[in-house]
Amino acid sequence: MSKPVKREEAYIDSGDHECIDEKYCLTCVRKFFQEQSSYWTSDNLEIDKIIRESQKGEQYLHKTLEWISFEQFYDVRRIEEGAFGIVYSAYWRDGPLHIEQKDRFRIFYREGHIKVILKKLKKSQNISVEFINEASIHH
Ligand SMILES: [Zn+2]
Repeated sequence: MSKPVKREEAYIDSGDHECIDEKYCLTCVRKFFQEQSSYWTSDNLEIDKIIRESQKGEQYLHKTLEWISFEQFYDVRRIEEGAFGIVYSAYWRDGPLHIEQKDRFRIFYREGHIKVILKKLKKSQNISVEFINEASIHH
């Protein structure tokens, strides 16, 4: 498939605080998610709550939950079906978040067109962190 495409998402100004780490600053990460928070909803209050709590409390960006609309995925192919649900491979158009530093700004960007695994769970009406359909980077 095509090479990953880098796309800038947001500039976070770190001028109002001392960044904890030159590369990775939790305060900047939380500011980013705070700024983004009015731009998405899963249309399910319980799922929104789990994701927003993750975005406020998670220590690591790669572990932080995000809502990704299904239109973000293409070339979706069914791999297998088990007792828990169905597994698909797909490409994620925008891709996962990364951070880089530029002067006093943290630039949040995505690298897209990345292959991922999607799991569709059968009992997703019982919503908890474990039951959220997850997307993981395909290695
Ligand atoms: Zn910072």
